[in-house]
Amino acid sequence: MAQRIRVFTSALYMTTSGVVNGKDGVLAIDPGVLPREIGMVKWYADQLGQPVRYLVYSHHHWDHILGGQAFPSARRLAQRCFPDALAAGQPLGAIRKFDDEYYVQRDPPFEFQPPDELVDDGWAGSLGDVEFTLIHLPGHTIDMLGVHIPSEKTLFAADMLSDVELPMIEGDGSDYVASLRKIDALVASGQVETLVPGHGHVTPGAATIRARIAEDIAYIDRLRLVAGGRSSDGEEAAIGACRSMNYRGKDGWPPMSQAHEANVRAIYKAMAG
Ligand SMILES: [Zn+2]
Repeated sequence: MAQRIRVFTSALYMTTSGVVNGKDGVLAIDPGVLPREIGMVKWYADQLGQPVRYLVYSHHHWDHILGGQAFPSARRLAQRCFPDALAAGQPLGAIRKFDDEYYVQRDPPFEFQPPDELVDDGWAGSLGDVEFTLIHLPGHTIDMLGVHIPSEKTLFAADMLSDVELPMIEGDGSDYVASLRKIDALVASGQVETLVPGHGHVTPGAATIRARIAEDIAYIDRLRLVAGGRSSDGEEAAIGACRSMNYRGKDGWPPMSQAHEANVRAIYKAMAG
């Protein structure tokens, strides 16, 4: 019997795509990124023998919204703030730029497939014998959705809780911390035992997941304390003050120093403004 959940990992940014298989249909999550990779997800979903009923765009960033054309039967779901975030962030331009720069050809040519339905926190769907719930997780972007599959105790956490990336923060970090606490409550109550980050490796084990959540909260709290406390000294002083901080990927791979600096700037601006 086919696996209930299958995760595919792109060569690009280790971006993950999910396929959830139920008796009445299939759910695809962020199918991407390169053409053959999307083709592989489609091939896998097709041979399950059920229609792909739903496709979730976890958020509007360009590496998560490429797969719509491959799954025409799917009802595309995104969070309520997705259209505004898409208009402000211009990820479709980023896709064109990436494909032009690296001579990526998509057949048919890429055409963004907008969501059919905008959802709020707690939206629940069914694949017959498998349910899934969409969880609003703002903080990386305002429109981010996690996908919880309660029967499998699995959470697709979108761009949070990566083992290879730092948190990448929009705003002052408070929404991000609140979203981490929301996930922690699901893990602490036994509802999540496997984490699928949007970039990186599938992570089993409540203790490991909770340790990563605690690490990310500590990182953001520290950033808020150090960068936020520099509001009278200017942004460069905040960057300097945060240079000695420890963070995931500081001396490792992939390098995260630019992401760290972007976090300092985001939090500084949000807290000084
Ligand atoms: Zn993102």
